Amino acid sequence: MAGETVLVTGATGFIASHTILKLLDKGYVVRGTARSAAKADRLNAVLSSYSGKPVRIELVEADLTSDKGWDEAVSGCTFVHHIASPIPPNLPRDADELIVPARDGALRALKAAKAAGVKRVVLTSSVAAVGYGWGKSRPAMLDESHWSNPDNLQDNTHYTRSKVIAERAAWDYVNGEGKGLELATINPVAVLGPAMSEDVSASLEIITQLMGAALPAVPRVGFQIVDVRDVAELHVRAMEVPEAAGERFIAADEFYWFSELAAIMREAFPDKAKKIPKGQLPSPLLRAFAMFNPVLKQIIPELDKRRYASNEKAKRVLGWTPIPAREAAIASARSLIGLGVI
Ligand code: NDP
Repeated sequence: MAGETVLVTGATGFIASHTILKLLDKGYVVRGTARSAAKADRLNAVLSSYSGKPVRIELVEADLTSDKGWDEAVSGCTFVHHIASPIPPNLPRDADELIVPARDGALRALKAAKAAGVKRVVLTSSVAAVGYGWGKSRPAMLDESHWSNPDNLQDNTHYTRSKVIAERAAWDYVNGEGKGLELATINPVAVLGPAMSEDVSASLEIITQLMGAALPAVPRVGFQIVDVRDVAELHVRAMEVPEAAGERFIAADEFYWFSELAAIMREAFPDKAKKIPKGQLPSPLLRAFAMFNPVLKQIIPELDKRRYASNEKAKRVLGWTPIPAREAAIASARSLIGLGVI
């Protein structure tokens, strides 16, 4: 209900910023967490500039790896959007650098929420918690009943493992010790759409790499895409719709191979077309190079795979209509050009 206080964790992030604006538009009072409260002025300036309205939200300092700040952050809140989780552009060597903050941070947010009498937490999980680690048995159409297997290291990265382990821990908590606290999860595919600042999420690297002449040719890799404005909208709907409690929702639109995305970008931005790669790298060659190159290594689980997840449940239960993936990709590129990133 308008006027209620809502906490958004990781408030400086790509998805969180869009979620904050949707909540403010609906009349909620928004509080954020960040690792440093010194980011408040910059965040408010970015939100104000993007929305064209003055925005002034409060930031409380809280790190996923420490207990400090979480009780203060959730105090007086009716709802929490737990969005913060490490999503680095380059994967660390040690999986625990992602798994520990993702899992323990989710539990910190949930435990603080339960103690403060919060009604519902909406957690940003990922399709990484749905469609990975299946090997050859992956269903052609994934849905919310499916869970990734984090133990199959051939079909996971440290990041995808961190997301399924964190989401499992969250459900185990609310089904056990945290009973009574409502939980819903949003499980997005690759999130594109307009960036608000030049400090961009790792997922926007899909666009910066494609359009920035970083690649001579593209690998045979593809993703379903969802617009960040839709992920934010789904967060708000999963908070408000009574039937969303206890449910997971895949946030997804269409699948594109990188080569198809490159063609879309060439058509939408003809003045940049020369820099956008046309060829496709042979997968066996990429596999061979990846043995010596840690950056390439992280795309190996995606090579030649078409993971596809249904958005039917989010449409049916939350009454949502997705922005087309193509539009999301073009909006990313347009914003990144405007911000001088591309
Ligand atoms: P961003 O990198 O823009 O945001 C991530 C946020 O997490 C940042 O605000 C960051 O805070 C915070 N964070 C990271 N580590 C910590 C920590 N140790 N303690 C506190 N905060 C931390 O990414 P996105 O907006 O894209 O991602 C948001 C969420 O969505 C994540 O949970 C991600 O896994 C999930 N997701 C994203 C997808 C995508 O394609 N972008 C797809 C599916 C899921 P700080 O400013 O302090 O660095």
